[in-house]
Amino acid sequence: MTKLRLAIVGAGPAGIYAADILLKAERNFEVSIDLFDHLPAPYGLVRYGVAPDHPRIKGIITALRDVLDRGDIRVFGNVRFGVDITMDDLKTHYNAVIFATGAVRDADLKISGIDLEGSYGAARFVSWFDGHPDYPRTWPLTARQVAVIGNGNVALDVSRMLAKHADDLLPTEIPANVYEGLKASAVTDVHVFGRRGPTSVKFTPLELRELGELPGVDIVVYDEDFDYDDAARDAVASNKQVFVIDKVLNKWRERPAGTASRRLHLHFFAKPVEVVDDGTGRVGAIRYERTRPDGHGGVVGTGEVRELPMQAVYRAVGYFGSPLPGVPFDKKRGVIPNREGQVLWKGEPDSGSASANQQLYGVYATGWIKRGPVGLIGHTKSDAMETVRHLINDLGNWWHPAEPSEESVLAMLDERGIEYTNLDGWHRLDQRELALGMAEGRARIKVVPRGEMVEISRGEG
Ligand SMILES: Cc1cc2nc3c(=O)[nH]c(=O)nc-3n(C[C@H](O)[C@H](O)[C@H](O)COP(=O)(O)OP(=O)(O)OC[C@H]3O[C@@H](n4cnc5c(N)ncnc54)[C@H](O)[C@@H]3O)c2cc1C
Repeated sequence: MTKLRLAIVGAGPAGIYAADILLKAERNFEVSIDLFDHLPAPYGLVRYGVAPDHPRIKGIITALRDVLDRGDIRVFGNVRFGVDITMDDLKTHYNAVIFATGAVRDADLKISGIDLEGSYGAARFVSWFDGHPDYPRTWPLTARQVAVIGNGNVALDVSRMLAKHADDLLPTEIPANVYEGLKASAVTDVHVFGRRGPTSVKFTPLELRELGELPGVDIVVYDEDFDYDDAARDAVASNKQVFVIDKVLNKWRERPAGTASRRLHLHFFAKPVEVVDDGTGRVGAIRYERTRPDGHGGVVGTGEVRELPMQAVYRAVGYFGSPLPGVPFDKKRGVIPNREGQVLWKGEPDSGSASANQQLYGVYATGWIKRGPVGLIGHTKSDAMETVRHLINDLGNWWHPAEPSEESVLAMLDERGIEYTNLDGWHRLDQRELALGMAEGRARIKVVPRGEMVEISRGEG
């Protein structure tokens, strides 16, 4: 019987779902899957993106873990595609590859002053508070007034984590250094800026509502932002999600002014145009232009520019994918160009061509690197179904590897001295984190340094 030796690069939800769907799919060939990730632990942004105070979402890890624990997928952590293994290696050992490398960096925001000291990308802050091993262990939290630019759920996560009192995060899995950092935070006011109106936000109602329940934090909304036009009124009437968001915000308008030690302000129709230098190269203020509805569902500037003092700015304007050596990349969209998961190219891989249009046989994409950094974890499942369907149907166009045996991959990694981690290793790390948590009466405390993660996983620490 034909056998598909498949490499999946990226052990986030997209990669794990793809493996699971393929293994369960109706097919007339055998399957053997190796799942690679450059991190020593699997689960991608579920472990290193989803906020620690969202245990229900973090709990998706249990379902992903059940897939891996079935034992029919080999896991290789701490192996970076493009550094430890290359496209040529994959062609030598596999019939095909699915890239599920997600999107981990911040999209750019081109406004003056965005590079000043004290101006940060949300993705870096998220990586810090979620204990990502490749980010600094300390984070400057000396600002009293902080701006968060963006009106999506990541902006809410960042604002909530900045505004929340550290002791309210203690029951979560935040690493000790993150608790200490947040505990020392000087913040009093977090200001969230969105250039559109309240009926155009990308927040989900659940995440928005949660803000109003934070102990010791008052929510401040401004009446001037609720002068709706017909399009906004229509949106409230016709879209259930918008209806709920509008209801939540209006309830906050009716609350009497609070006396909490921290405030979270929501500014709508407020388009940041400049981060202002305090004279020493640091963030001193944010300048924003009032906007108004343009009558077609968008907004236009009013010319009225306002300024608020800030000592830090976080831009939460979206994530962006990163190119992989030897793999086509659409520089504009930050994705691997593809048609329903079949990778496309025109000319040389790496050409950055967005108009790629021929199928690159044997190469597939799924998850955020396939369709861009939007959507919830559940969406990566439907993504994976589509990609896997093509992979199965493309049987005639798979690669013909020179060394297809499972052992040959182990030999290659060992020869190169790569300290890879495997599923047993993840179990060891998982147990250690649970034990660290139990010792302090908490569910889990994450191990952060990469070296320590690898040592524990490999049974050396
Ligand atoms: C801050 C934040 C909060 C979120 N909160 C929620 C939420 O509450 N609920 C929800 O449903 N969704 C949430 N999401 C969305 C969710 O995280 C994504 O939908 C999902 O993680 C995308 O899955 P993915 O597998 O495509 O990418 P990822 O989860 O990013 O996984 C990609 C994997 O590829 C690996 N990788 C990358 N490059 C390489 C390489 N060169 N070599 C080897 N491995 C590599 C990475 O280490 C990573 O493990 C959130 C996202 C963010 C950013």
